[in-house]
Amino acid sequence: MSNKEKELHALFQAALAADWPSHLRTSASCRQCGEPLEAQYCEDRLYLVRCTKCGFVTLIKARKPLMAALGVRGWDLGG
Ligand SMILES: [Zn+2]
Repeated sequence: MSNKEKELHALFQAALAADWPSHLRTSASCRQCGEPLEAQYCEDRLYLVRCTKCGFVTLIKARKPLMAALGVRGWDLGG
């Protein structure tokens, strides 16, 4: 793997392994397994959304954690 690939893989693993407080859990459920999605704010309206059950992790731009989680589900956020 290239350094960039290793870096991204490490980021992914760290995001999944991190202990997130329960309030980061949203009312949006994972499209793959139905578990509640968790959304952690990063910066500049960027959220890290994850599902610890099936190992789904993604970055998405949104105004609120719930909007980020819903965006992951493919909802139109209206800009
Ligand atoms: Zn899931």
